[in-house]
Amino acid sequence: MKTEQIIKEAEQVLLHTYNRYPIVLDHGEGMYLYDTDGKEYLDFAAGIAVCALGYGNKEYEGALTEQIGRLLHTSNYYYSEPVMEAGKKFIKASGMDRVFFTNSGTEAIEGAVKSAKKYAYTRDGHAGFEIVAMEQSFHGRSIGALSVTGNAHYREAFEPLMDGVRFARFNDYDSVAAQVNEKTCAILLEPIQGEGGIYPADPEFLRKVRALCDEKDILLIFDEIQCGMGRTGSMFAWQHYGVKPDILTSAKALGCGVPIGAFALTERVAEKSLAPGDHGTTYGGNPFVCKAAAKVFDLFESMKILDNVAETGAYLTRVLDEMAASYEFVKARRGVGLMQGLEFTVPVGDLICKCQEQGLLLINAGTNILRMVPPLIAEKKHVDRMAEILKNSFKILL
Ligand SMILES: *Cc1c(COP(=O)(O)O)cnc(C)c1O
Repeated sequence: MKTEQIIKEAEQVLLHTYNRYPIVLDHGEGMYLYDTDGKEYLDFAAGIAVCALGYGNKEYEGALTEQIGRLLHTSNYYYSEPVMEAGKKFIKASGMDRVFFTNSGTEAIEGAVKSAKKYAYTRDGHAGFEIVAMEQSFHGRSIGALSVTGNAHYREAFEPLMDGVRFARFNDYDSVAAQVNEKTCAILLEPIQGEGGIYPADPEFLRKVRALCDEKDILLIFDEIQCGMGRTGSMFAWQHYGVKPDILTSAKALGCGVPIGAFALTERVAEKSLAPGDHGTTYGGNPFVCKAAAKVFDLFESMKILDNVAETGAYLTRVLDEMAASYEFVKARRGVGLMQGLEFTVPVGDLICKCQEQGLLLINAGTNILRMVPPLIAEKKHVDRMAEILKNSFKILL
């Protein structure tokens, strides 16, 4: 079918919740995507930090195909080997003790919030506990996840949301401490804020929040849905910072394209938290998606993904720092590893379209911030090509 026809027919049936770019993607290979006209795009978006292994990885696809032929779904009433395998690998990589697999990041946040509330309920014997979350955070679109998302624009039409959420300023310890009271059960934050504009936490901020949580028996929840799974050069961002949470959420690159998320607890929290009957999911973590996640962990090791992120991430950082120093309209570079943001003095929408014309996919994080979350297999030559196209598109700003 012709590109225009696909766009036209899609617009007639899909709920208009996205202003999609006029590109119809068809297939991918490595760092590249191809549209229905055969045009090639270098991909620095990775389906929003999802496709960490790039496209067309034969070993990954083989594992999925094999599992499709064997068993897709069982419900969580029964055991299966892929689920056990994914669980073991997640626990080993994350340093947490107990994991629950979900269908999405949003559901991982729901589970994390419920775990924290149940922990406080078990300990104190009554409900009504509060959560401190951050301004400019993003945790998802369900009513619960939206309740802890610090973005008025996303929330407004859906209020009143869940009660008992207080917002503090990210990287401002005093602001966090001021929102904590005897009813607080958890502090929730992204170690590196993603949608909010790629803002990494200050190490000192995380250390102080951790100490506050320890002092008051408050649970620290890290949302690593975007910044986890190798993006910083560590498997999870908490390992990059050396500050461990009590509850951790994951999704996006966990399945590298199949819908799987997770929330994980330390044993200390799990003992007093969700018990049979408290939580569940029909699809969540079925044998198919767990086979994918288990294979992703294997491939991260065999392909030395973390080493590659350290190397390519350092190079990307240098290249972007140079841009920030050379162009008046590039205000700042922020980020860690292969999770980088370039803040402009102007909106980046036109720049993104100009890059698409030249065969480069980028996304934004807020109006003025260009976000780079490429597949974790990106090499220096891809960074060079990206920089060449991006600089060329700066013409429209000069
Ligand atoms: C994407 C994202 C979510 C939501 O995940 P979905 O899979 O879209 O539900 C939550 N938190 C963070 C930090 C994210 O980047």
